[in-house]
Amino acid sequence: MPQPPAMNRDSGLGAPVDPDVRRELQDNLHPPQWRNPQPASEYGLVVIGAGPAGLGAAKAAAASGVRVALIERDLIGGDCLNYGCEPSKALIRSARAYADMRHARHYGATVPAGIEVDFAAAMARVLQLRAHLSRTKSPRMLQEAGIDLFFGHACFTATDKLEVDGTPLRFRKALIATGAEPDVPAIPGLDGVAYYTNETIFGIAGLPQRMLVIGGGPLGCELAQAFRRFGSSVVIVQDMPLFLPGEERDAAQILSVAFARDGIEVRLNTEVTAIREVDGEIHADLRNDDYLSSVAADAVLVGTGRVPRIHDLGLDAAGVEHDAGRGIHVDDFLCSSNPSIYAAGDACMEYRYTHVASATARIAVANALHGGQERWSGLTIPWCTYTYPEIAHVGLHVREAMEQQIPVSTYTIPLHAVDRAVFDGEDTGFIKIHVADGSDRILGATIVGRHAGEMISQVTQAMVSGVGMRGLARVIHPYPTQSSAIAAAAQAWCREHPVASQHR
Ligand SMILES: Cc1cc2nc3c(=O)[nH]c(=O)nc-3n(C[C@H](O)[C@H](O)[C@H](O)COP(=O)(O)OP(=O)(O)OC[C@H]3O[C@@H](n4cnc5c(N)ncnc54)[C@H](O)[C@@H]3O)c2cc1C
Repeated sequence: MPQPPAMNRDSGLGAPVDPDVRRELQDNLHPPQWRNPQPASEYGLVVIGAGPAGLGAAKAAAASGVRVALIERDLIGGDCLNYGCEPSKALIRSARAYADMRHARHYGATVPAGIEVDFAAAMARVLQLRAHLSRTKSPRMLQEAGIDLFFGHACFTATDKLEVDGTPLRFRKALIATGAEPDVPAIPGLDGVAYYTNETIFGIAGLPQRMLVIGGGPLGCELAQAFRRFGSSVVIVQDMPLFLPGEERDAAQILSVAFARDGIEVRLNTEVTAIREVDGEIHADLRNDDYLSSVAADAVLVGTGRVPRIHDLGLDAAGVEHDAGRGIHVDDFLCSSNPSIYAAGDACMEYRYTHVASATARIAVANALHGGQERWSGLTIPWCTYTYPEIAHVGLHVREAMEQQIPVSTYTIPLHAVDRAVFDGEDTGFIKIHVADGSDRILGATIVGRHAGEMISQVTQAMVSGVGMRGLARVIHPYPTQSSAIAAAAQAWCREHPVASQHR
């Protein structure tokens, strides 16, 4: 049976683009004429996967004088550079330019009616930016760093050996950094239509007139809004009552309103029960409790989550415990059930982000090679969904604090009370800081706003450095800035705790 087109990874390299850009991308991501090196008799570290985790680990280990082999079966840069963060954020930026043009009247600017969207130019920009960003990860740079780069599929054959497409490598330590892949739901008929996932959407040939997005997590939300802003009619279907299930309810609620304002058709609490193609048109049957309906689309994007990519790795031969949901089982030091094999990034972490991949790679290298005793549970991990408004979070949610029986109070500043947000017409959102009762200790924060991803780092830095609300309240922000809302929240805490403030 022929594979539906969406099953083949397409990182956009086939798109019409400046030949120099395509050549640079090919040379930096997977040179067509590449010949693998002659393997060393033994490697101090073999790294499987050249995404953010694998690249970070290989470079750190090589810099400390360890003999390193790095194995990649597809493209250097992994999901982040080729199928994830970087193409999505580049596309989102272009989509925002069109949204800004359409809203120019709000800023006293007049633009001609009927703005023409050049989607091909936006996609070409994505490739140009990827080419630019690939320069620091190219095979030449890796060779110069002293890393032996192998292209091919890695598979363990024993507890201290693996093969790259049949070539044996022996290692003292290995790091599994194989990432994650789309978790495609078993919707009847889906396999029979040319659906997209994150592995194919950035190679899409043109702007679909009508797009159905299945799944309201970060991927579905970011791309639904981007395609809508380019001009597609977008329906987003989420089988839960709100988008971004992990986030605070009012944050997710603001996103639903923002989507509706953008003209996205929002179907919450709704399940896709079947999909079929009729005369070149895709039809999806939907169910919301007893209400049955259907939508027609020209393209379907499946964004229902990702699962660790750990199949065909020979994990049993290596004595590495694993399961399909959690991926590689690691302890707090990122060591697997084989003491010589560690894991990092999406292959083993519940938090599937590039910055977590990089941070866990650093910890795994320190622990595996240099006798470190660093625990990943000690990390303070922020994250952000890059919709408009952005939704960023760090630390505990109130719900989690209560589960841990930590009494908590929340200090909230709405962005409509922040001068700079008002000037900029970006007053949708809020800043919320959760504080442990009886102290000024910051437990966590959620920021919803146009620059939430930038602003959350101030709270993260405070948490990592042990700075509490008293310290945050003393920070002077230039006027006018949106981040002054962080100081305003801290000052609100100080007003409620005047004695404690005076004693400092
Ligand atoms: C659409 C989208 C948007 C995203 N946006 C963001 C964002 O804005 N911010 C953020 O922090 N995160 C984002 N992410 C998540 C981020 O891309 C991942 O968390 C990150 O890439 C994980 O890095 P990694 O090194 O663990 O795995 P990967 O980047 O997936 O790299 C793993 C590599 O291993 C290779 N590999 C797998 N198996 C083998 C094998 N057997 N042999 C050899 N090689 C193998 C793969 O080909 C791949 O290149 C996004 C993800 C998606 C899908």
